[in-house]
Amino acid sequence: MGQINTQQIEEAVRLILEAIGEDPNREGLLDTPKRVAKMYAEVFSGLNEDPKEHFKTVFGEDHEELVLVKDIPFHSMCEHHLVPFFGKAHIAYIPKGGKVTGLSKLARAVEAVCRRPQLQERITSTIAESIVDSLEPHGVMVVVEAEHMCMTMRGVKKPGSKTITSAVRGVFTNDPAARAEVLSFIKE
Ligand SMILES: [Zn+2]
Repeated sequence: MGQINTQQIEEAVRLILEAIGEDPNREGLLDTPKRVAKMYAEVFSGLNEDPKEHFKTVFGEDHEELVLVKDIPFHSMCEHHLVPFFGKAHIAYIPKGGKVTGLSKLARAVEAVCRRPQLQERITSTIAESIVDSLEPHGVMVVVEAEHMCMTMRGVKKPGSKTITSAVRGVFTNDPAARAEVLSFIKE
């Protein structure tokens, strides 16, 4: 994956400012292209990162029961409008064969997936697939809830509305009781 070209972002932002009829040379806007480029380099840094990298170290822990990490905060950028959407991710999995990951690694993987132009649906399924591929657990369930600025500040303008997505793999697929248990923990 290529590196982020901040010079090119600066030029593009200057063009956008001109295109909306602004003067990119007025004092308040003078450093804006540079600031936006720096911010984009940060919020899109996940493009150079494989979320599965974070699951390379596993503990040989003999726990084949539910692990749930909930309320992992995240920010991402909607790929349709390049404005933020943000919320919380909840990750539940049932480890198999001692393949248990560090709890902070789950948060790191979420960050890697979110720091690129994204869709909430894809974030949800990518996290689930990364865990399936890396930890080969009995099952995974990922729930993501988010508020989308493209729904809040433009178009239908529905502030406070939340979108909830879920991805279910393995034993959770055919076990409504297990899914209900996870959901009840998330709601607590
Ligand atoms: Zn959008």
